[in-house]
Amino acid sequence: MQDTYNAFLSTVEIPSSAKGVLSGIRVAVKDNISTKDIPTTCASKILTGYIPPYDAHAVELLKAAGATIAGKTNMDEFGMGTTTENSAFGPALNPRDTSRVTGGSSGGSAAAVAGGLVSMALGSDTGGSIRCPASYCGIVGLKPSYGRVSRYGLIAYANSFEQIGPMAANVTDTAKLFSVIAGHDRRDSTSVAKPYDFAGLHAEIKGKVIGVPKEYFGEGVDKDVAASVEKSIQKLEELGAVTREVSLPSMQYALAAYYVTCTCEASSNLDRFDGVRYGPEPEMNLPWHDAYTKVRAAGFGPEVRRRILLGTFALSAGYYGKYYVKAQHAKQLIRRDFLRVLTDCDILAGPTMPNVAPKLGEMTANPLQMYQTDILTVPINIAGIPAISVPCGTAHGMPVGLQLMGRMFGEEALLNAALAFEEAA
Ligand code: GLN
Repeated sequence: MQDTYNAFLSTVEIPSSAKGVLSGIRVAVKDNISTKDIPTTCASKILTGYIPPYDAHAVELLKAAGATIAGKTNMDEFGMGTTTENSAFGPALNPRDTSRVTGGSSGGSAAAVAGGLVSMALGSDTGGSIRCPASYCGIVGLKPSYGRVSRYGLIAYANSFEQIGPMAANVTDTAKLFSVIAGHDRRDSTSVAKPYDFAGLHAEIKGKVIGVPKEYFGEGVDKDVAASVEKSIQKLEELGAVTREVSLPSMQYALAAYYVTCTCEASSNLDRFDGVRYGPEPEMNLPWHDAYTKVRAAGFGPEVRRRILLGTFALSAGYYGKYYVKAQHAKQLIRRDFLRVLTDCDILAGPTMPNVAPKLGEMTANPLQMYQTDILTVPINIAGIPAISVPCGTAHGMPVGLQLMGRMFGEEALLNAALAFEEAA
């Protein structure tokens, strides 16, 4: 396999002797998902040389379904980023235009699928990391409902938001991979017993009520991207869906609530990388504080360091109530907005990303600008609901993603609607 997109951090071919729905299918796995005997680095220097002694639950299920593990894919370091340029091993390149980013953080998984290196891949989505690269690379990506896929063996970045999910070239393969990884696992205390039956997949959109949140077409959304998504929503109407405009007023707090909470969780989760159990061995003759600082300063990239500092600050005495607690309140408001509109509507529709894939280097100078492009994906992780990105045309010569968002554990309806759209488009 020739990897011209820097999609893989390591390649292997580990066939499974089991017979199942994925027999003979090669699946790539994001490098923050633990794989027994295969290096797992989260695209960070601090995990150089780390070889997990066990498989993540999702990987156990892939093997049991007969899949061949094809390798570990590139990503933003620990999942922190929107372009895969925060990888310690260089960015993945977008197969549609290699001068552009893949999106992130599951950029390697998206490039591997879009570039035809594998037919399916696992990604993880904390604030958009499956849907963003799916949108930028012109493939399908599903962020499952919180709890539907076990996080056992997923190296945590911000665990109250994240889910492992499927990425593939079309809706059918996405649904097939989802059917393999969904279901209960007692080793993840947030896991829910909701398996998904692939046999239930069928194109269905007629009579469904689709809410179109006006905030999804607000400031910062590229005109051509909006036009392409609006055309797709008209297509859904032609297929028999009923659309109505809805509003999610608390969405204005989503980015702030997300970035406060995810940095707090990251500062606590990444505490364990201290050179003692993981990472390059510290200099034992130094005072522990100096040894620890040295290992972490050398092992983490600038974005990870920035987020650890922000999170540690927000959690510190005197600021905790002002930032962390306030962010939790804002999250409740956002959740309530989604629950409210999803009682009347079956599905919500809007763009996945406000733009198409930027050129390499275009966003790196301004982290805040990069955070802002997550505006349409993070609210979904806050609400915990499922969302899928489906290719829906092009703008500026690059793919655009239509985002369909559903009720809690409503993946069936989402996949069926996405299939109806894909068949018609
Ligand atoms: N871009 C978002 C972030 O940097 C989301 C990343 C993700 O989903 N892992 O936090």
